[in-house]
Amino acid sequence: MMDLNFVEPPVELVTHFKAHNISLHIKREDLIHPFVSGNKFRKLKYNLQEAKNNGSKTILTFGGAFSNHIAAVAAAGKLLGFKTIGIIRGEELGVDLNTTLNHNSTLRFAKEQGMGFHFINREKYREKDSSEFIEKLKFDFGDFYLIPEGGTNELAVKGCEEIMTDAESNFEIICCAVGTGGTISGIINASHSDQKVLGFPALKGDFLSSEIRNFTSKTNWELVTDYHFGGYAKVNGELINFLNKFKRKYQIALDPIYTGKMIFGIFDLIEKSSIPENSRILAVHTGGLQGIEGMNKQLSKKKLPLIEI
Ligand SMILES: *Cc1c(COP(=O)(O)O)cnc(C)c1O
Repeated sequence: MMDLNFVEPPVELVTHFKAHNISLHIKREDLIHPFVSGNKFRKLKYNLQEAKNNGSKTILTFGGAFSNHIAAVAAAGKLLGFKTIGIIRGEELGVDLNTTLNHNSTLRFAKEQGMGFHFINREKYREKDSSEFIEKLKFDFGDFYLIPEGGTNELAVKGCEEIMTDAESNFEIICCAVGTGGTISGIINASHSDQKVLGFPALKGDFLSSEIRNFTSKTNWELVTDYHFGGYAKVNGELINFLNKFKRKYQIALDPIYTGKMIFGIFDLIEKSSIPENSRILAVHTGGLQGIEGMNKQLSKKKLPLIEI
């Protein structure tokens, strides 16, 4: 076990939709750890154990400038005594690092945790899985344990299987936001075959189903692709207003990139009678709240409403 203390996340009743007799509970994975939040904790757990067992001193990974994964790796690495290196998309961010850090709370946090950055342009970033590029990184930075972008690999999926405990077996429908598909794969693997797992992709594209099939052979799942709001990290006023209303009413903060889109989708599906009556739904709150500050900077530039914190 990695030496990160964590709380077993509670399952909370959020609301009951009387007209359809549908209940919505949320599994509060966002509360699992103060800095290594949500599914990123689950995905890192066995990877960091493996790195330690291998005798690795350094963790290297990839991410965008507001990445929850980058923040989590930096914090977990510091707590467990690893050196961490983040390969960040966007060469321009490295030109004046102090200005970048002043404007970007995610990278500022990662830096405070001791992460070193290497900024690369978008073309190079696309090569991040090629063995040539990784050899080059080993030449530049010495030996490291590599965790892919978003943290998804076999060990990450194994960690995400632990999201499901006995407390989750009472639900007919389990919902989860999807980025790379690692988290939902773990949930599917640990689900009962008579449960339905619904994934809400946070981005456009139809590659996700095959990604998920790399990690699970079960078939009791489906992706609901109508709630990406135009693509990854794209939002509109309707979504922001929904997050704010939800938080005021239920005292649970949602992030705008993943969990907010999922919960918006669940409410909409219930309203359209697309979820069977008498269902008990469990939505997994995968965290991501560290990204709100960065999103609010973008929203104020676009003169959109801000996310209340
Ligand atoms: C990374 C992330 C996801 C997506 O997880 P995947 O395993 O990549 O599908 C979902 N929710 C939050 C809050 C995340 O940070």
